[in-house]
Amino acid sequence: MTSPVPSQPILDHCLDAGFAASGIVVAGSSRHEPSLNAWLESGQHGEMGWLERNVDVRLDPRQLVPDARSVIVVADRYDGSPDVPLPPRSGRIARYARGRDYHTHMKKRLHQVSDRLQSMYPGETFRACVDTAPILEREVAAGAGLGGIGKHTLLIEPSVGSWLLLGEIVTTLAIEPTGSGEQIDPCGSCTRCIDACPTDAITPWSVDATRCVSYLTIEHRSAIDPSFHSGMGEWIFGCDICQEVCPHNQPTNLTASTPTHEAYAARTSGRDESGASFDVGAVLDWTEEDRREAFTTSSMKRAKLDMIRRNAVIVAGNYLQAAEDEDLRNRLIEIAGDETEPALVRDAAIEITCRS
Ligand code: SF4
Ligand code: SF4
Repeated sequence: MTSPVPSQPILDHCLDAGFAASGIVVAGSSRHEPSLNAWLESGQHGEMGWLERNVDVRLDPRQLVPDARSVIVVADRYDGSPDVPLPPRSGRIARYARGRDYHTHMKKRLHQVSDRLQSMYPGETFRACVDTAPILEREVAAGAGLGGIGKHTLLIEPSVGSWLLLGEIVTTLAIEPTGSGEQIDPCGSCTRCIDACPTDAITPWSVDATRCVSYLTIEHRSAIDPSFHSGMGEWIFGCDICQEVCPHNQPTNLTASTPTHEAYAARTSGRDESGASFDVGAVLDWTEEDRREAFTTSSMKRAKLDMIRRNAVIVAGNYLQAAEDEDLRNRLIEIAGDETEPALVRDAAIEITCRS
């Protein structure tokens, strides 16, 4: 067996490609098999049925690339700055989804690194992955020395926090690993994310997706249980609360620096100037064309029209709990009485108008 090549030139290629951090871990089987299986068996993945598939691959990247010896992990930072005060009736968007679709942005540069390495090591295999392959990416990132996994289950890089997007290259090339193999606990006795989670989705180092606002607004394609409506607050797509409260994301001296993730603020279809939210009244009136226009080049296109309008109905209902808005109330009443509305949207409106 050949000895591993030095990691530094490879890390330099990653930096050249604009990644904020990178590391190398030996490709091997996960130590999280029991917890992943228990999480899946208890149904905490909700409607994300794809997580049940390829579990063996997820647990060992060597199933993805036969004879893989290393995983190169890269991270992009996105802007985690606190939001400026948003206009009334704002439906907030999780920060990672405010820029252009990160899959496209990262994939292009990851392929550049991969192609460069391929030309240097023509006999080896390099497979770039950004959310497209079943990899336990936070675990491999932690194994590569990029940080530790917090109680909210996200990767925390101690000097820059958790506003990170991850990508990997699985390769047959043996590379010197960069991690120590030690698990870092970035949390200690802190429980801020657990205490702040509006739907009690977090138990230490585990998130029940079926309770998480991020899952409910982005992945859950059926009705959202009314018991979670108030917990959704202003969030129309995703939720950042557990990251906002994390001490590793404050102060924001580093998160205020230029993000590598390009900001994007479309001022069409009810989006506010900062790009952080949509006017929920506008979203209630969206057609498929409006949705397409608003989500062009965005990772938000994952949310179908009925889903984003369902979310807007719920957020509008939360606004009406706090302040009267006759136009918004009348629009919800109209949707509730309109038999031509999709059931997903109408049922949420009926629930809210009957309640208030
Ligand atoms: S994203 Fe929001 S709902 Fe989900 S675990 Fe974090 S704080 Fe809770
Ligand atoms: S808020 Fe506290 S407990 Fe949660 S991930 Fe951050 S440090 Fe860990």
